[in-house]
Amino acid sequence: MRKTIVFAPLLATCVLAGVSGCGRAPQDTAAHDSATVSTTAVAKPALAPAKDDVVRANVDASVNPGDDFFTYANGAWLKNNPIPASEASWGIGKIVREDLYTSLRKISESSAAQKDAASGSDEQKIGDFWSTAMDEARADQLGLAPLKTELERIDAITDVPGALDAAFALQPLGLDAFFDFGVFQDEKASDVMAVHVGQGGLGLPERDYYFNTEEGVAKARTAYVTHLHNMFKLLGADEVAAGASATQVMAFETALAKVSRKLEDLRDPQKNYNKMAPDELTKKYTPSIAWSERLNAWKLAAPYVIVGQPEFFGGLEALLRQTPVPVLRDYLRVHLVDTYAPFLSKDIDAENFDFYGRVLSGQKEQRPRWKRALDSENRALGMILGRIFVKEYFPESAKQRYNTLVEAIRSAYGERIDRLDWMSAATKAKAHEKLAAVTKKVGYPDKWKDYSALTIGRNSYAENAMSARRWAFNDRVSKFGKPVDRTEWGMTPQTYNAYYNPSNNEIVLPAAQFSIPGFKDADVDDAVVYGYAAAGTIGHEITHGFDDEGRQFDAAGNLTDWWTKDDADKFQQRAEVMVKQFDAYEPLPGLHINGKASLGENIADFGGLLIGLDAFKKTEQYKKGEKIAGYTPLQRYFFGYALGWIFEEREAMLRQGLLSDVHAPAKWRVNGPLSNMPEFYEAFDVKQGQALWRAEAERVHIW
Ligand SMILES: [Zn+2]
Repeated sequence: MRKTIVFAPLLATCVLAGVSGCGRAPQDTAAHDSATVSTTAVAKPALAPAKDDVVRANVDASVNPGDDFFTYANGAWLKNNPIPASEASWGIGKIVREDLYTSLRKISESSAAQKDAASGSDEQKIGDFWSTAMDEARADQLGLAPLKTELERIDAITDVPGALDAAFALQPLGLDAFFDFGVFQDEKASDVMAVHVGQGGLGLPERDYYFNTEEGVAKARTAYVTHLHNMFKLLGADEVAAGASATQVMAFETALAKVSRKLEDLRDPQKNYNKMAPDELTKKYTPSIAWSERLNAWKLAAPYVIVGQPEFFGGLEALLRQTPVPVLRDYLRVHLVDTYAPFLSKDIDAENFDFYGRVLSGQKEQRPRWKRALDSENRALGMILGRIFVKEYFPESAKQRYNTLVEAIRSAYGERIDRLDWMSAATKAKAHEKLAAVTKKVGYPDKWKDYSALTIGRNSYAENAMSARRWAFNDRVSKFGKPVDRTEWGMTPQTYNAYYNPSNNEIVLPAAQFSIPGFKDADVDDAVVYGYAAAGTIGHEITHGFDDEGRQFDAAGNLTDWWTKDDADKFQQRAEVMVKQFDAYEPLPGLHINGKASLGENIADFGGLLIGLDAFKKTEQYKKGEKIAGYTPLQRYFFGYALGWIFEEREAMLRQGLLSDVHAPAKWRVNGPLSNMPEFYEAFDVKQGQALWRAEAERVHIW
């Protein structure tokens, strides 16, 4: 239910917009924001002792690279850095974030200490947000009081229109009650901001959690009902009533899940684009929701809405009619409290953590409050902190290096398109056109976001969180009817991630993504940088423009078919080989990777590796061929790629990723694409009989 809308409006609309994020998004940055993001105050492990080689120190030589390159390249690091008790996962991205915590804490504390900060200034906002976030006693004392207005609104519901009134009032607070809503670019007219609605409203991370029969998923379902039960008790219900409410809400959500599309079916941009007048949506699918009026109340005089999954709205309508009103009240109530639990009293926060942190993510204990506070501060005031962050962490020279690297990747991509033997000249010409038009955003925005309309005070942590979400909602809605601002960033510079936005045909590469903890950018050799950044991030994101989903958007960012029928068929046949490859992987007994749902990401990983290598082959280091720390340039390139994937996670988190994330788990994001590359076989002498060896006919050939 909870979305990271405040922090990353573009990515939060992933399902609806098909924005492909996540060059390197470990799964736990996904669905359930406040509860699962985690780290602890353990002594900070450096990635490698500063004087050792950037990749050699991580190698586990007891593993054969041809059997499991991920563990060979990263095994020593993983052995030496077990997942801290408060964490769901651990790895290089977390270490980058640990560095960031120290610096953000300093900024926050000094802002809070500034008694004379002008009202409305950045210092005042940061200082007040931080102070209230750290004031645990005040949060305890307030209990549910910060949610009083909303809870009373829900209590007063007597019929379906009343339930819808409440749901529409909760959307600006970041709750996708009953359905998902957003304002972003029209997929078929990228110059226009459009209203989008889609499936949503579930408390478990994904549809499949309600139906999958695997043992761990079944346990999570049972635990979810217990969690709902406990929450209703905390909301004042007695044992019997709380139990009944929990069962009924679970039944309601299961019915909602049943009319929702599967993860893999959300990745077809054509099928998830259904344009209609608001009145048509009302008439055909949801007579209970007068969309024109509802949208007008948000000053959205929309001539049309883009409906992701029309049948979901038909299903929702039927459910609203047949569900007793008290169940609708309970549903809204519990989701409101779960969404804001991290900002409320200890008992509510702990119950929320117990399910979303412990059960769903495998954390053994809560993370320290100060880190959780910084995470919410980051979500609420991300670009203010980002501006301070880049001054310290991302020198102009680094920006220059990565801008140049993007161009090296672009030209290598162009040459690769020319060499493709399966694509016609007509499609190639269009592909070149699209490639040339890809916009790059490197490091941080040229223009910083204006937060002046956001009020942060010292009343309560929850109130500040609500203000921030409301502000983000208004900010998005206010874009409607205006020219599209293509300079905007959907991620902050301090995010260890990246994304491709098909509507802008752009790659967005935040500064933090390029850092290797313990090493200065200038001290890392090209081989490692090309594997780590050129392949793993830049090549990956550019390839999203040409994956099974992104390829359906043209150079101007419009969903339109620029492929000849024959080329499209060939692409699909080739992609099918990759679907099969990943479908066969079984990271947990009984749970395979979803080859179709993860296809776009797997194509992007593979494409990134191929193009990164093409570009690396043009460097002096590759041509000279000298070994560093005992490894050839080609070997170091593959190590550099694996370095970006140093990542381990608890079983619950792995399960969550397999069910709800379009990215394969880290290990398979390394081993999967590499086992399709002859250069990898050559670099590490991979032979038939070894686990990563694939017969020629089974190897993927797309880009
Ligand atoms: Zn991606």
